[in-house]
Amino acid sequence: MSARDPIADLKRIAFLLERANEASYRVRAFRSAAKALAALPTTEVASRAAAGTLTDLNGVGDVTARCVTESLAGEEPVYLRRLLATEGVDLDEAATALRTALRGDCHTHSDWSDGGSPIEEMALAAVELGHEYVVLTDHSPRLTVARGLTADRLRKQLDYVAAVNDALPEGFRILTGIEVDILADGTLDQEEELLARLDVVVASVHSGLRDDSARMTKRMLTAIANPHVDILGHCTGRMVANRPAGVTGPGDRAHRRGGKTRPPSDFDADAVFAACAEHDTAVEINSRPERQDPPKRLLRRAMEAGCRFAINTDAHAPGQLDWQRFGCERAALCGVPADRVINSWPAERVVEWAQGHA
Ligand SMILES: [Zn+2]
Ligand SMILES: [Zn+2]
Repeated sequence: MSARDPIADLKRIAFLLERANEASYRVRAFRSAAKALAALPTTEVASRAAAGTLTDLNGVGDVTARCVTESLAGEEPVYLRRLLATEGVDLDEAATALRTALRGDCHTHSDWSDGGSPIEEMALAAVELGHEYVVLTDHSPRLTVARGLTADRLRKQLDYVAAVNDALPEGFRILTGIEVDILADGTLDQEEELLARLDVVVASVHSGLRDDSARMTKRMLTAIANPHVDILGHCTGRMVANRPAGVTGPGDRAHRRGGKTRPPSDFDADAVFAACAEHDTAVEINSRPERQDPPKRLLRRAMEAGCRFAINTDAHAPGQLDWQRFGCERAALCGVPADRVINSWPAERVVEWAQGHA
């Protein structure tokens, strides 16, 4: 006799997925598997698990079969373990607490690249929101569709930001940064000397999103291990369809995509998150409604891997700076505590932490 009831575990997972507002097909998979197993004698469930033939049953897939096998072995299924972090938590309250804990935003754009507004306007909107800092992370040169900044333009921007900072209210500052492209070989699309000068470096994949898993994983691991990289931006690159009305605007690339969806990139998430934990590279929780990146199932894996996070808006316009709430909701659904989120720190600590990498 097993110490656990695999059917109860499957149902528990389904319940917790529903509570976390996961896609209904995912929930259905666990309920269908529970139903299929409930129709069999207990001994057959055990013998099929031992023989590896659970997946021959209608309604049982690889993931659900693995849960059953773990459960029969008396272990808490890994899938369940990841979900249990939020059991009994008031999710609205947790999201609000996270949002309240945030002091800044580490991924924002201005009209120097593909944003719609000048740097000053973005900064003043951030002040209004109660932020203590924003990191200005315009795009790098090879992202020409987004008017990525050449090394020369970035140097000019650094001088410009210094001047703007002098004129901004006491207690608020713009931190310098970049959203640098992770190139095909995992190297970064900006001069080394400049990357070293910046306060915070967000590195993101914007090209070759359909690379096969081995290639994409290698690319990402190379970037994560790069000492200049502080934050891994929108790691899967996916675009989801169900964004609320009114979230697009001029200068918004997703808007120009015409609302088209894009599947997540294929990579070894466990290897990538283990590397992020090892190199202390924060995993971005991108708040944009059309991105919602990483998906919750990956966010839970990053949590379990021990990663730090940055809950960023990737704002391309002032009003979008208020989208952090969306990221906080997703983080709360995955049990991310404020002490794992780098932008709950004061600016000095963020800068110090980032300097510790490079
Ligand atoms: Zn990006
Ligand atoms: Zn961005």
